[in-house]
Amino acid sequence: MEEFYVLGIIYLAGILCGGAAIKFITLYNKSDRSNKCINNIEKLTLYNNLTNLPNKISLESMFNAELLAKDNNFNILYIDVDGFKIINETLGYTIGDKVITKIANRIKAVVDKEGKLFHIRGDEFALLITKDESKENLCVLADKILDSMKKSFVIEKQEIRLTSSVGIACYPLDGNNLDLLLKNANIAVQRAKESGKNKIEIYDHSMNEKMNKKLKLINNLHKAIENEEFTLHYQPQVNSLNGEIVGLEALIRWESPELGTVSPGEFIPLAEETGLIIPIGDWVLKAACNQAKIWQESGNINVPISINISTLQFLEDSFVDKVIDALNEADLEPKWIHLEITESVALKNAEFTMRTLDRLQEIGIKVALDDFGTGFSSLEYLNKFNIDILKIDTSFIRVIGQEDTTVTNSIIVLGKSLNMSIIAEGVETDYQLNYLKETGCDVVQGYLFSRPVPSYEIEKMLKVA
Ligand code: C2E
Ligand code: MG
Ligand code: MG
Repeated sequence: MEEFYVLGIIYLAGILCGGAAIKFITLYNKSDRSNKCINNIEKLTLYNNLTNLPNKISLESMFNAELLAKDNNFNILYIDVDGFKIINETLGYTIGDKVITKIANRIKAVVDKEGKLFHIRGDEFALLITKDESKENLCVLADKILDSMKKSFVIEKQEIRLTSSVGIACYPLDGNNLDLLLKNANIAVQRAKESGKNKIEIYDHSMNEKMNKKLKLINNLHKAIENEEFTLHYQPQVNSLNGEIVGLEALIRWESPELGTVSPGEFIPLAEETGLIIPIGDWVLKAACNQAKIWQESGNINVPISINISTLQFLEDSFVDKVIDALNEADLEPKWIHLEITESVALKNAEFTMRTLDRLQEIGIKVALDDFGTGFSSLEYLNKFNIDILKIDTSFIRVIGQEDTTVTNSIIVLGKSLNMSIIAEGVETDYQLNYLKETGCDVVQGYLFSRPVPSYEIEKMLKVA
């Protein structure tokens, strides 16, 4: 009985102080009858119970016991699954755990001969390469890890597509202790995510500076709503045939007293990463509804406002209720707002997306699929979902007149055949406009007509028109 008591304490100590507990375990007399029990506890302390991979405590103990003594160079490949939070939040932790186990097995299968894989926490793994490998070889190995994720994961008949990012740090150059090395490999992996995910980044010291900048941005973003630092600008959406303004897209602008003007391209992904997009999105929704009401009452501007909705916002259980509240508070009819979502919502949770889209249609709110063609573009979803408008991404418009435009034409034909309106984004030249007119694109939006401008500019524009 006493023995179990001691072992329990060792186990707790393992959780609390990691490496130190390993020494206890090794010192404890393994030859006595508690051998089996010690093995179990050792397993619990040193291995992740979900994936059975050695954990961070194992890595620490290996670092202290072997790696430091040999004084060799070695490398850490830090692997982080992209956007895994959403899998847990939308499909639940049971499915999330099953996905993690499958991911661990896939990675292990491709790296087993090359190094030792550790499960650090949640969706994060570290591959330890004790050989002094060249950066090129490490990148080849990291590429194999990214490749291993390409095939979709099927769990309880649900198909889940994931990517991961890898950050590489080398001992002792990038950190002379394990904590620093892991921290810097983690900074590299964050860089990989920021540059578009499914990427590999090798740590360099300038990344620390970038990370500090990012933290500064996040700190300022926290204060931005209550300090009223956001405004909305509006960009006209124009009938391609007669030039009439038929809609306005609301685009957020941030003027920070400390950082100056920060573009949405820079802060929206950070807001998504930190969850701040929820309060920011709520603010946008209310501000756009209030503006639409003001314009309705003025009698001059009778076009709907398109509001960008982030995936995290759309997948909130309370999303539709929030939309209804914003409309009620502004005393606005639903037809005066359109919502712009991206294909990623459907990928994250198709069932929920379908139900939410149906509810929005019942209320009388039109939905546009933004940046179409850049994501997964599943035709099956397009057919099933209640989508009213397809917005062709800028990248397809930019190439008109320069490259083959078969895809652009096909998107227009496809959208039309599904009874959708088509909006072309990023129209900058007359050539692009004429081409789109001829191909049957109803609405165009871009610098050729107007940049996004403050509300008073829109008022001037529409009074003159
Ligand atoms: P988006 O929704 O696809 O918006 C179109 C972007 O293209 C806007 O960039 C707009 O200023 C820009 N644009 C418009 N016409 C042209 C053109 O002719 N040429 C070029 N090169 N660009 C053009 P912006 O305002 O920087 O916004 C970037 C992205 O940030 C938006 O892409 C949207 O995804 C996101 N965003 C902006 N406002 C909000 C918001 O209120 N909520 C959420 N969740 N996301 C927002
Ligand atoms: Mg948009
Ligand atoms: Mg877009």
